[in-house]
Amino acid sequence: MTLNIVMLGPPGAGKGTQGERLAREYGVPRIATGDILREAVVARTELGCLAKATMEAGQLVGDEVMIAIVKGRLLQADTRQGFVLDGFPRTVRQAEALDALVSARGVLTILHIVVPLDELARRVASRRICGQCGTTAGPLAPPDAVCVVCGGALVQRTDDSVEIVRKRLRVFERETAPLVQYYQRRPTFFEIDGNQLPDRVSAAMRSAVGAASEVGSAATRTPHRRTADRR
Ligand code: AMP
Repeated sequence: MTLNIVMLGPPGAGKGTQGERLAREYGVPRIATGDILREAVVARTELGCLAKATMEAGQLVGDEVMIAIVKGRLLQADTRQGFVLDGFPRTVRQAEALDALVSARGVLTILHIVVPLDELARRVASRRICGQCGTTAGPLAPPDAVCVVCGGALVQRTDDSVEIVRKRLRVFERETAPLVQYYQRRPTFFEIDGNQLPDRVSAAMRSAVGAASEVGSAATRTPHRRTADRR
């Protein structure tokens, strides 16, 4: 059985931290499209040059570019047992492309993390990344912490300033919120309360993944009932 997980939620919902935990626990890679783009910006690749201004403005990079990135990443051998996608899909167009990419891999589990707006703004304002390699520091990293990967100094993300975060939340509402509608009638869609202690969020996710796996197993036994609506 493969474990194909999509994490949905606005900036600051905890997709990174929780996605990392899930990926470690189930032994599958976490694929964070924001990290892939930030690494490209730091390395000044063609993709990085293309994406930099868009990211700094808090806008979304084009669908075709993002779909090509994820398509290429899902061809790599480490995704054979599954993946945790963080930051993709962000538009309905991307979600449709993902469905086509994973149709032969079993069910897609969608975890939608819900957090109140004022809490999101507070979290995003205090989040930091490594200025050298772009790795995101955990929310509990002390003020004098350095990057756990390369030892570089931690800085605020250029797109995490108050003004840009407001813009990103608006973009999220407009482009990404419709994804909830796209997915919510599936039996493998779960809403997770992200406004609780990280361990409790992880536990809620684990039980959702367990429930989704059962849907997957039942679908394998009785393929015609896969689209059964649980609402
Ligand atoms: P994140 O780290 O997921 O918050 O992503 C940071 C920025 O990267 C976003 O504000 C977008 O500019 C860009 N980005 C990441 N993933 C996507 C995606 N799936 N589609 C479009 N833009 C993306």
